[in-house]
Amino acid sequence: MKVLLAEDSRSNQMLISAYIEDFGHQVKIVEDGQAAVDAFKQDRPDLILMDVSMPILDGIEATIKIRVLCEDSHDWIPIIFLSGLTDSEDIARGIEAGGDDYLSKPIDGIVLNAKLKAMARISDMRHELDEANRKLTLMSLRDGLTGLYNRRHFDEVMEKELKIARRIKTPVGLIMCDIDFFKLYNDHYGHQGGDDCLKSVANVLKETVKRPGDIVARYGGEEFVIVLPETDLDGVAKVAELIRTAVEGLKLPHEKSVVSDFVTLSLGIASMSDEVADLADGIRFLIESADQGLYQAKEQGRNQVCAVCVTK
Ligand code: GH3
Ligand code: MG
Ligand code: MG
Ligand code: MG
Repeated sequence: MKVLLAEDSRSNQMLISAYIEDFGHQVKIVEDGQAAVDAFKQDRPDLILMDVSMPILDGIEATIKIRVLCEDSHDWIPIIFLSGLTDSEDIARGIEAGGDDYLSKPIDGIVLNAKLKAMARISDMRHELDEANRKLTLMSLRDGLTGLYNRRHFDEVMEKELKIARRIKTPVGLIMCDIDFFKLYNDHYGHQGGDDCLKSVANVLKETVKRPGDIVARYGGEEFVIVLPETDLDGVAKVAELIRTAVEGLKLPHEKSVVSDFVTLSLGIASMSDEVADLADGIRFLIESADQGLYQAKEQGRNQVCAVCVTK
């Protein structure tokens, strides 16, 4: 462990740092609270031993500052206070400020070692939990089969993008697409074959839609949506046509399709460039327009891109 020792008394510095090194840890010593905050920013320690009474900034104030920094970076590290044996007020204030434990001076080596171990254990558990939470959050945004974003994330992104678009007055584009005659595909190639087809189409979407900020999501069964920030209808049409030809170009055999020998997509597109008074109206306009476009693409023979502008 990298231990930061904030302590203004020379004799305590020597005694405590010798213990820490004996227990096999690295130690960095600072002599006041502000130096502790700076050292924390520069080179994150794994644990801090913080004296309460120190010049410039005392241990309590330094701890409050460090906890704010921890919160900003979604991080946590253990802080153990060093206090006089009789300073029960200091101990209470220290814990209140964000300290996790305390040690009474004079410091006992065995107790110090035990507390370092206990804190390291809590810290490890905390990091494992953070990692598990991070993975869960990622998973909760994704569709299990294709690895694309899921509908929930799409809903959130639409709202966020429309807010940005209204603020900086740029258009937002939307594509809704749907695999043609996919029921027949499933019936003919089996459910596993259908799943493989969905994955292949999803990969094409991911590879074709490349701008940072673009979002590809699985909307439902064999329907996908693509959000294209800062893209007008001409731009959306170009991306949609690229997607259509890329899926056709996969040449995945579809014996039962009425429009092609291969798997194809129908796509509806929309873009919103005017300001809309209401955020929900804007989202509804984009989705309904793209959905109507998709419906028309199906009606007109599938494997094509259509734009229909519903009234706002
Ligand atoms: P259209 O060209 O008009 O879109 O016809 P379609 O057959 O593609 O449309 P329909 O909505 O009738 O059928 C969609 C089918 O998609 C139903 C179901 O068999 C299939 N499907 C939906 N979700 C999944 C999935 O997760 N895996 C597989 N294998 N099939 C799915
Ligand atoms: Mg002191
Ligand atoms: Mg469908
Ligand atoms: Mg379909």
